[in-house]
Amino acid sequence: MDYKEHIAIVQDWPKEGITFKDITPLMDNGPAFKAAVDEIVEYAKEKEVDIIVGPEARGFIVGCPVSYALEIGFAPVRKEGKLPRETIKVDYGLEYGKDVLTLHKDAIKPGQRVLIVDDLLATGGTIEATIDLVEQLGGEVAGCAFLIELTYLDGRKKLGDNDVLTLMQY
Ligand code: IMP
Repeated sequence: MDYKEHIAIVQDWPKEGITFKDITPLMDNGPAFKAAVDEIVEYAKEKEVDIIVGPEARGFIVGCPVSYALEIGFAPVRKEGKLPRETIKVDYGLEYGKDVLTLHKDAIKPGQRVLIVDDLLATGGTIEATIDLVEQLGGEVAGCAFLIELTYLDGRKKLGDNDVLTLMQY
């Protein structure tokens, strides 16, 4: 499947100098979106994961159908102030800004095998922070899966020895 034909490239958005990869045409194409999710589902099966963790907002879009297909849970990673119960937090750097990410304290049980899912791996800051949150709770990161990898930003470096699946590379 050539997923790239369903990605829109938007120059200078959200800021000048950023070439944004827009996944909404892929989401709008049922067979292409299903094929992409199915690849991540197969990867999750191989890794024998117990739970999916995804950062807001596009990590929910890609991660939730994986969790639904496998009949396992999904835990949302959100910006500070968005989760209603007791959270843990981590500071992180983005391709375009700085922020704090949080996860409910009871989202993961120690020893659970976690697949982290997001739409896109850029500098790796978001996923490095998400790995930190999962490990703070005693979870074991079994793998990280993305639709898109911006290889020129070298985000994999930040993910250490963690196994990474990406469906498209730019
Ligand atoms: P990183 O933390 O630098 O790896 O940035 C990845 C995060 O920023 C992901 O959660 C993405 O949703 C978002 N992001 C960065 N660049 C893009 C892009 O070109 N398209 C879609 N999302 C992006």
